[in-house]
Amino acid sequence: MRAIVITIGDELLNGTTVDTNSAFLGRELGNIGIQLFEKLAISDKKEHIIDSLERYVGKADLILFTGGLGPTKDDITKQTLCEYFGGTLVRDASVLAGIEKAFARRGLTMTDRNSDQALVPDVCTVVPNAYGTAPGMLFEQNGSLVFSMPGVPFEMRSMFAEQVIPILQQRLELPVIVNRHLMTSGIGESWLADRIADLEEALPPHITLAYLPSPGVVKLRLTGRGTDSRKLQEEVDAQVQLFAERLGKHVYGYDEETLMASIGRRLMALNKTLSLAESCTGGNIGKLITSIPGSSAYFMGSVVSYDNSVKEKVLGVSRATLDTHGAVSEETVQEMLSGILRITGTHYAIAVSGVAGPGGGTEDKPVGTVYIGVAGPSVTEIKRYTFGQKRDTNIEYSSMYALHQLRSMLDADLEKQGISA
Ligand code: AMP
Ligand code: MG
Repeated sequence: MRAIVITIGDELLNGTTVDTNSAFLGRELGNIGIQLFEKLAISDKKEHIIDSLERYVGKADLILFTGGLGPTKDDITKQTLCEYFGGTLVRDASVLAGIEKAFARRGLTMTDRNSDQALVPDVCTVVPNAYGTAPGMLFEQNGSLVFSMPGVPFEMRSMFAEQVIPILQQRLELPVIVNRHLMTSGIGESWLADRIADLEEALPPHITLAYLPSPGVVKLRLTGRGTDSRKLQEEVDAQVQLFAERLGKHVYGYDEETLMASIGRRLMALNKTLSLAESCTGGNIGKLITSIPGSSAYFMGSVVSYDNSVKEKVLGVSRATLDTHGAVSEETVQEMLSGILRITGTHYAIAVSGVAGPGGGTEDKPVGTVYIGVAGPSVTEIKRYTFGQKRDTNIEYSSMYALHQLRSMLDADLEKQGISA
């Protein structure tokens, strides 16, 4: 099976717009067992579109175009495909009715430019667009299925999921694919690889393992390919079980659960609350925690105590501590924790203070030095980390390691109380 995605648009080539469509399609096609062998980005020029068709029609089983279907002059994909496949543009009544309805609903008047979007090549099958005015198209020639979809990412994604996938499932012999994920935090990819090397080695050929690392979190994906959906699901589940047993407490969740969501799940199981005292992360941990719907059930708030005066006046960190040990120190973080717990009365708290960079580093506390403290009902743990040179990654790592530390403490408390989250 040979599949290719071709994205069309000058803006993709000059860097004004980042091509997210091909990443989406690569991922989604992978989920239904189609691996892309190539992707291509081309300009809004007729000769480039024709050239790509000449190269791939009859050679690829599946060609997916996105872009260039808008009503403006620079969008020429439809005309070009029509010409290449030897058709003429005809007005499609159902597409026109859809466009009229969309304009009426919004109380807008249609122009010729809008109604011309209902012109479609008479040699294609129209692929309806439920979220926009530009219809998609399906052409077939010499064993190739050629789809053309809008460039607007949300229109393309909906069209792909709702219209294109069912056609692919019907027309192509696709394998059954089962994906399961184990989510780990606080440990590196190579450490993980060492711990599970023998399990990975023993995987049957139709089940593969992928390591998907991001700051603080490594996602392990097990992908099974087969024909019998139930059998495959059972086989992959059994492998997930084996890997999870081996990795024990390093696994915080399954199937793409975020660390933030897993923390919420644990706090709710414990019926406990959380607050934050952030310095170098500047509110980023609060942002992550509140990205989870329903976080108001357990999150009380955050003090962004960036300047020492705020650490002192709001959190009550003593001047003596700041003078003697500095803002980036275990002692300061300890007092930030005490302060935020006193102010908010929560059961758990995180405090973070570090040198995000690029300036501010010293010999004994270089850029990337971060103290992360977590306090719970029974213990307080403060750790020193040395991350890297880059400000944004230091902020990201600090945030994710703080969440990891909290998650570990919550796990220990859950275990002590015999509660499963
Ligand atoms: P078009 O269908 O070419 O008129 O594109 C409509 C909008 O979608 C424009 O704002 C494009 O910048 C955007 N767009 C087009 N292709 C892509 C792509 N591959 N990835 C992300 N956005 C895109
Ligand atoms: Mg365009």
